[in-house]
Amino acid sequence: MTRPYNFSAGPAMLPEAVLQQIKDELFDWHQGMSVMEMSHRSKEFMALIETCESDLRSLLKIPDNYKVMFMQGGATGQFSAIPMNIIGETGKADYVETGIWSKKATSLAKPYGDIKVVASSEDNRFTNIPDFSNWTTRSDASYLHYAPNETINGVEFHWVPQVDVPLVADMSSCILSRPIEVTDYALIYAGAQKNMGPAGITLVIAREDLIGKANPLTPAVLDYANFAGDDHSIYNTPPTFAWYVCALMYKWVINQGGLDAMRDINAQKADMLYDFIDNSDFYANPVQKDCRSRMNVPFTLADDALDKTFLAEAEKVGLYQLKGHRLVGGMRASIYNAMPIEGVKALIDFMIEFERVHA
Ligand SMILES: *Cc1c(COP(=O)(O)O)cnc(C)c1O
Repeated sequence: MTRPYNFSAGPAMLPEAVLQQIKDELFDWHQGMSVMEMSHRSKEFMALIETCESDLRSLLKIPDNYKVMFMQGGATGQFSAIPMNIIGETGKADYVETGIWSKKATSLAKPYGDIKVVASSEDNRFTNIPDFSNWTTRSDASYLHYAPNETINGVEFHWVPQVDVPLVADMSSCILSRPIEVTDYALIYAGAQKNMGPAGITLVIAREDLIGKANPLTPAVLDYANFAGDDHSIYNTPPTFAWYVCALMYKWVINQGGLDAMRDINAQKADMLYDFIDNSDFYANPVQKDCRSRMNVPFTLADDALDKTFLAEAEKVGLYQLKGHRLVGGMRASIYNAMPIEGVKALIDFMIEFERVHA
């Protein structure tokens, strides 16, 4: 039986090869036990997380002066953890709002200091990125926060803001989708459930000098100092199964040819879908062309009364979870690393046929 194509924004589809390996190992990972049943301090699990970290370090070329931490609480937990850990003595941080997630990050940071929105595209309903020359950044801010890919609005930076303060990036929905220069950032974080595993585990990559300066009121499970030591983020019981799946995902990305290969195939998938939408009078994408997301493609139908029919008929041909976010409406196709090119082709074929019948 073939699996459906799942366009969910997250938790999102995983590669079939990864699911198959999980299935094969579920009852007997080591010594006749499931990975879910083993101590997080067993030598088998410790070996897993060491390989996991070294695979991730090689994929992203993470320099030695950056710590890799696996935490809980999701990206939303980091919205609070980041100011608590690194807003420091200035008590000031700058935020860029280019969509619903970065706006939420701003609002959750506010209790912890002097938070300034230095650029926002909300007046354009988050369909563009404000021109960098108009950002009102402060040279004495402790950091600048932004979201390189806005999962809900389908807006992606194709450039990195060059600022003199530490740059903090929410990469929840674009991590591992293309190569990045880790040294451009002081801190990168990402929930796993979009592009690198199941829900329940959160990756934080942080420059060493930022760690160990948390506000004393920081909960222990959100304090980076407790996760950056030699025991590899095992401060308390970690989400072992989710971690195991992330480790399989990193191997899978390496087997695909690494991040250069991911970038090429992701560009091919996104270009195909945007070209089709742009050449159609029936479908539309509202985002300015130079900042469209390669991971999340929102689109509307010419008549939104057809939305329900579109979703129901899509399911009949094995295309699932295309409904747009409740705050934006319309449709959204999330096409992360695990979505094969055949899935995007199947979506376009369906859209052509739907337009033919209903336009
Ligand atoms: C999904 C998402 C979040 C929220 O992640 P949680 O794990 O639900 O906390 C934050 N930022 C971005 C960019 C996301 O895509």
